[in-house]
Amino acid sequence: MSATSPVSATAKATDAQPLLVRRAAVLGAGTMGSRIAAHLANAGIPTLLLDIPPKSKTAEAALAALAKSKPAAQFEPSLAALITPGDFDNDLPKLAGCDWVVEAVTENLEIKTALLSRVLPHLAPHALLTTNTSGLPVGRIAAGLASHRERFLGTHFFNPPRYMRLVEVIAAPETDRAVVAAFAAFADRILGKQVVFANDTPNFIANRIGIAVLFNAANGMLEQGLTIEEVDALTGPALGWPRTGTFRLADMVGLDVLAHVAANFPEGVTGGRFASILEEMLKRGWLGDKAGQGFYKKTRGEDGKEQRLTLDLASFEYRPAAKAALPALERSKNATALTERLRLLLANDPAKDKTAAFLWPFLAALWSYAAERIGEVAGDAASIDRAMRAGFNWEMGPFEMWDAAGVESTVARMKALGLPVSPRVEAMLAAGQTAWYTADGSACYQPETGKLEPVAAVAGHARVADFRRSNFQASRGVVRSNPGASLVDLGDGIACIELHSLKNAIGGDVLALISAALRPDSDAVRDFTGFVIGGDRDNFSVGANLMQLLLTAQEGEWDELAQVIHAFQQMTAAIKFCPRPVVVAPFGLTLGGGAEICLHAARRQPHAETYIGLVEAGVGLIPAGGGTKEMLLRAVDAATALAPPDPREPLARFAQSVELATALKNRLELIAMAKVSTSATEARSMGLLTAADSITMNRERLLLDAKAQAAALAGAGYVAPQPRMRIPAPGMAALAGMETGIFLMGEAGYASEHDMKVARWAAYILAGGRVTPGTPVSEQYLLDMELEAFLSLCGERKTQERIAFTLKTGKPLRN
Ligand code: NAD
Repeated sequence: MSATSPVSATAKATDAQPLLVRRAAVLGAGTMGSRIAAHLANAGIPTLLLDIPPKSKTAEAALAALAKSKPAAQFEPSLAALITPGDFDNDLPKLAGCDWVVEAVTENLEIKTALLSRVLPHLAPHALLTTNTSGLPVGRIAAGLASHRERFLGTHFFNPPRYMRLVEVIAAPETDRAVVAAFAAFADRILGKQVVFANDTPNFIANRIGIAVLFNAANGMLEQGLTIEEVDALTGPALGWPRTGTFRLADMVGLDVLAHVAANFPEGVTGGRFASILEEMLKRGWLGDKAGQGFYKKTRGEDGKEQRLTLDLASFEYRPAAKAALPALERSKNATALTERLRLLLANDPAKDKTAAFLWPFLAALWSYAAERIGEVAGDAASIDRAMRAGFNWEMGPFEMWDAAGVESTVARMKALGLPVSPRVEAMLAAGQTAWYTADGSACYQPETGKLEPVAAVAGHARVADFRRSNFQASRGVVRSNPGASLVDLGDGIACIELHSLKNAIGGDVLALISAALRPDSDAVRDFTGFVIGGDRDNFSVGANLMQLLLTAQEGEWDELAQVIHAFQQMTAAIKFCPRPVVVAPFGLTLGGGAEICLHAARRQPHAETYIGLVEAGVGLIPAGGGTKEMLLRAVDAATALAPPDPREPLARFAQSVELATALKNRLELIAMAKVSTSATEARSMGLLTAADSITMNRERLLLDAKAQAAALAGAGYVAPQPRMRIPAPGMAALAGMETGIFLMGEAGYASEHDMKVARWAAYILAGGRVTPGTPVSEQYLLDMELEAFLSLCGERKTQERIAFTLKTGKPLRN
């Protein structure tokens, strides 16, 4: 086994104390450098961004481009202020104040080495120096350094670094292991990355496997006479891989980058007929998205509509894209779980079925190739799996997929079909080991020792699924469950309410479980000291179950509808007034009812990539699960903090203050314009999260961070709030102001008639009705207003049209 990547290295290294980075510098303001700088700013770290002169132009231009990058590189635009541009001729002395210096210039050994030599004299003795490279030998770069070798290592961030979870860390022979560990812990916790230790071999782990897969798919296509669309369909979600498949991904990455990585391959995987096709495309400059054409090209048809063309590899001409017609692949879509899908896909006879004919040699080659790379590119199979999941967004890594398909049976079939099988897997089966992993995933077969070795578990990383297995970290497992949600013991007196409903919508199941679990007299409240609401999916929740709503509204079942809203309000009240602290851990889309769940919690522990918003207006409704009420409470509290009401004066004065009017205007805009944050940081600025809600950068840490937060609140003597009875209603004057704003939005063409109607309802609730300013109102009074508004809007034809449209297309309708 390699000295740099023992099996448990990942765990030990990421468990270390994170490197303290108070200030960083990025050398090279190109694609990667500027985006790494942006991500450092996302983490709140002031960063110098240097590039070649003249006069900081390059770095300054990069900063301007960053502001416009899509997808956004920054959590919010104001973070750009943390990045200071400069150049290599004038600003190197500033490196003395930096704890981490990241080199990210052109992929060229001489250029990198020359720049690093210029940098060395300016570094603080304790500073960490790294090179970001896709595949240059890190050891050779290190060998060129006159000093600082023990505090030097290689990284391979994936592009774009904000969104791609993987960072491969490559130690050089003289790198101090404690430095590697401190950096790994920093990358994991502070930058939110999945750290995988790679050996210093060409293209490291993920690109080595990923590009081999791409060439395999392309050569398989050419041998079997398949089309580009067919191979994209065969190598996409069917296998638990991204929708881009093989060729859309190649177009996105860029064929020049691909060719560069391919040229670095030590063995003949990147040859075959596809190599000459790639060469021809490079010659023609058809580099993919950046050149406007690659394997696909977008044009406008005669009708002016956008049309997608596909390259015909025989004629080198573009033809209209055609949907792949592969019946076996279509049938496999009925299987939602990847394990079942893989087994279905591979069950067919390759002699009769195109899908099986492609997949058998393709997957056999992937599996054997990956098996042969253990010990070469990484210390163990688990690191390869982790790299492919985090770097290429595969649902399972190659060994996990192989286990899912069944190692014993697939090997037998591969042999019967005359496909090559890695001798390592034959040895594994001969030793009586029939899967790479043990059933609970805690150990993995290591071909170099012929034994099962423990899989590194990183302290602080966990998913609810881990706790569903009782005996994991003193958990009792699932306490109660229904199809939409479960109550799962997280150990240490904390329980998680896991949301796992169909399409992440909130329906009766979710409402019932939360309300029952968090009621003051429930068993759960008696047995646990705190709660987390979270889950393992990609999105926290897309909001209320619209289908259920639409059907009830269309049938005019108003009582039933009122009951649903009432149940919703009871659920959010159960969260808010639970005697135990409830911490909500949102992630991904957190919309409508999902956002309302957050607003009612004692605290929120959001993942950095949380897209939260009260989007009900998009479907012609207003937040009626207490969301509009909470917006008024937050406006009142914000205004109180700025200009507390004078007890000697009537409350009417406070209710008509500029501070309250401004706070209300902001909240009305959130609701009326259905604003959604582009990050948790932005959600704080928008007032949907607070400064007290700390943000978790690493999705794998979210659950345990939220658990720690719940335990801390409980430990500090948490006392639940009491329902507020005397909220000073802004009243008539504020309502008139908000209505004028709505009228002007309509006049300016920013709001349709129906948008304005929805906005007026929201304004009405935010004002506490047409009452004298300062009239004390209760939370229940506001909830009743929400109910009235919701029912009224549900009866509107345009609202029903909006809901139906969104259900069908997933998009809002502006009618
Ligand atoms: P880039 O071409 O976008 O930027 C390179 C930067 O290096 C430019 O700003 C340029 O001004 C600067 N530079 C060029 N010549 C120089 C010289 N002689 N001295 C000093 N600076 C010089 O490159 P990139 O895509 O940002 O890649 C940077 C590094 O990251 C490379 O090693 C690359 O392999 C690696 N990487 C890139 C990606 C990607 O998708 N772009 C992904 C992972 C890793």
